Amino acid sequence: MRPASSGPWQWKHVSERIGRTCRLKSIGAGFAAAVETGRAAKPKTAAAAANQTRDGVDWAGKTNPDGGGDCRSVGERAKEGPVMKLIALTPFARAAVLALFVSCASAAASVPVVGTPFFGDPPDATHPWAIHDRNRPQPVRVAPGTASTADQPGQPPADAIVLFDGTAASLDRWVSNNKEGGPVKWVIRDGALECVAKTGDIRTVDEFGDCQLRIEWAAPRRVEGRSQGRGNSGIFLLGLVEVQVLDNYDNPTYADGFAASVYGVNPPLANALRPPGECQIIDIVFRRPVYDGDRVLDPGYVTVFCNGVLVQDHTPLEGPTGHIKRTKVGPLPAKGPLKLQDHGNPVRFRNIWYRPLPPRAVEGGTDGALSPAATQAKREQIAAFIRADAASMASGSREQAFRLGESLMYAPDPEIRARLERMAVDYVTEVAALPAFEREARKAEILETLRVLRYATKHGLLARDFAPWSRLEQVIKDAGWDDAKK
Ligand code: MG
Repeated sequence: MRPASSGPWQWKHVSERIGRTCRLKSIGAGFAAAVETGRAAKPKTAAAAANQTRDGVDWAGKTNPDGGGDCRSVGERAKEGPVMKLIALTPFARAAVLALFVSCASAAASVPVVGTPFFGDPPDATHPWAIHDRNRPQPVRVAPGTASTADQPGQPPADAIVLFDGTAASLDRWVSNNKEGGPVKWVIRDGALECVAKTGDIRTVDEFGDCQLRIEWAAPRRVEGRSQGRGNSGIFLLGLVEVQVLDNYDNPTYADGFAASVYGVNPPLANALRPPGECQIIDIVFRRPVYDGDRVLDPGYVTVFCNGVLVQDHTPLEGPTGHIKRTKVGPLPAKGPLKLQDHGNPVRFRNIWYRPLPPRAVEGGTDGALSPAATQAKREQIAAFIRADAASMASGSREQAFRLGESLMYAPDPEIRARLERMAVDYVTEVAALPAFEREARKAEILETLRVLRYATKHGLLARDFAPWSRLEQVIKDAGWDDAKK
């Protein structure tokens, strides 16, 4: 049994719950729902069971005593970990201590988040989020899978789209790579999909582009042929770009046709193959080319690990794979099927799945450093969310003022700014007139306000010579408070 994710790996929850439940959780489509519930559970793959051999010997020639495996289902894994709770920043008026943060190591990292507004550098032309931005959604939780062994495939991550899991049912996701796209004529043997010579290539029904792809293959244990004639097949991304499959364990060939080469383009950085008959675990990160008309904005890249060893390091794409002739750089489609090659050798495949990847900045992106246009749109989206959140707060409260001020980091609004300036003037006037004992009672709040005003003036949310700022500094100086850490 895989160890539970709770225990010594989990960090202690150190945040302090003060005030309202966080309103931030709904920012970003479906984010909160995703983190609270985990991704939809999927049934346990039957690959392990199907992998059990007919004669008690697996495809690597080893005894396979337990084809069923002992891994928990994805559904079980998705339920583990603490219940997701997002905790808000303390209201302005009581902001003596801002809660820090919670983090949680391990796969069960569904954590509350508490951040401080007006803290890190604000958004800029290509970064829609501030540094350490409390409004930024937490990463979507993905229950990880389990490691494959020579004897049996591991479980895919919870959000993986499984293309082959060892079952006959998963062949529905494949067709012969001909015009008609009829049923595949390869066979399932020992839970693996085995090429039958001269039946032709096969391809997925699914068409997809950018992805993380896992595929595991094994060359025939019985060694026959040499160079390109030994254990040859191929993994064709978009159905067009081949990552070579070949038994090169003890079999020289031309380097740009080696196992894990981008065929005809780039040899692998290393020969990390296991002996023929044993499982080779291939992980690929694929990024398709991005065009703007005839202009190539991004050539597309492929990164490959073979048995955990980096063998293609962000290798730029050149075009559809060719043979003998140099690959012509040319348009590649946005998506295509995954194709496996019939090169006449009974190569086996198992545990094939992919995870679609989000768009890159060059495509507009969804996060991180984005294009200026995408950044602008995202900033306005964030500002609108925050303003809607502020509208739910007590009118005229300092909590509301802070929230509205926060929105100015993302998108200017002269009306809001003028309103906040008036509120700040009123606030400082009130504080300056307080009797000493009352001011002392509100020390934390006042220091926090000074910090916010400093931030706002430093970053241009308010004018640098905004008078209440210096008035408040004087109040604090007169009170003899140390605001160095504020
Ligand atoms: Mg090939």
